[in-house]
Amino acid sequence: MKDIKELDLKGLEGIFTKWGEHPFRARQVFSWIYKKGALDFGEMSDLPSDLRGKLKENFCILSSKLVKKVKSSDGTEKLLLELKDGNFIEAVIIPTEKRITGCISTQAGCKFACSFCASGVLGFKRNLSSQEIIEEVLYLKNNSQGRKLTHLVFMGIGEPLDNYDNVIKAIRIINSPATFNIGARRITISTSGVVPVFKKLSEEGLQVELSVSLHAADDKARSSLMPINRIYPLKDLISACREYINQTNRQITFEYILIKDVNSGLQNALKLSKILRGLNCKVNLIPSNAVKELGIQPPAKPEILSFRDYLEKAGINTTLRRPRGEDIEAACGQLRLKHEKK
Ligand code: SAH
Repeated sequence: MKDIKELDLKGLEGIFTKWGEHPFRARQVFSWIYKKGALDFGEMSDLPSDLRGKLKENFCILSSKLVKKVKSSDGTEKLLLELKDGNFIEAVIIPTEKRITGCISTQAGCKFACSFCASGVLGFKRNLSSQEIIEEVLYLKNNSQGRKLTHLVFMGIGEPLDNYDNVIKAIRIINSPATFNIGARRITISTSGVVPVFKKLSEEGLQVELSVSLHAADDKARSSLMPINRIYPLKDLISACREYINQTNRQITFEYILIKDVNSGLQNALKLSKILRGLNCKVNLIPSNAVKELGIQPPAKPEILSFRDYLEKAGINTTLRRPRGEDIEAACGQLRLKHEKK
């Protein structure tokens, strides 16, 4: 049985034509699944019953199970999904007054082994298919109390640029008016810096936002936090970013997690301001979520603020992200880690 979410609208129209059905029925099916949240073809009351039967015989809508839902006191909600093969992934709903942001995973596990991140602790299992990625969005939408998902960030478990084709395919479907209709500019791909893929991404013609997880401004520190830096050191990463910005005319956001006693001193802010000088970019500072298993802690508030002030004085556009969902272990991979360790 095929997962219907593998198909874009054209794909389903093609199948309906082959079946001798009106292709416009495809739009109805899409509307049921992606707009009304129907999880059963039987519910699609404006379709002829023989078509509903045929769909049921040939397609499924869901392949994973929602096994756990945890809600934070700040409204952030984390879903733990069990995939068909028994692997677990996480997806998060982050509501604010004006937006509802979904945070989704792209791989089961992660091979990048960043020292501060819970996602890599259990190693890498496999890439998610485009339909599994889309399914996360479906779960998020169906669990957001009728509010529309306005933004999407690829900041859950895994490295999006290490599962490039499936991520791009999923984005094109998620972005389309026939499905969730989330504008490309409201979709953020976050990467640890898989340098060779930047060029391909810059040529997609997609208006997505790119975030680069930097977290350190010299090679020694970055290599110890993020092993990928040993393969693509800062010089290569920053020059790939510069080319990306030139090619797409878009700004890059650098994510910088502040970790107590590791990268939060003003000498680090100085180095950071030096390597980013002249780039059309923004820095997003994130006080690290404490991960007990990894022994990491955020710095105290005054240290965070002076880091930010330093960057701003150096002329770097800087934002400070409010941590969300700390009481539900909403940092990457934390819930899955806890669940699988039991
Ligand atoms: N692999 C991609 C996307 C997943 S991580 C990447 O590296 O960007 C998404 C973001 O969450 C990254 O910026 C990552 O560094 C951050 N993150 C991971 N562990 C964290 C922690 N303990 N506290 C705060 N942010 C964390």
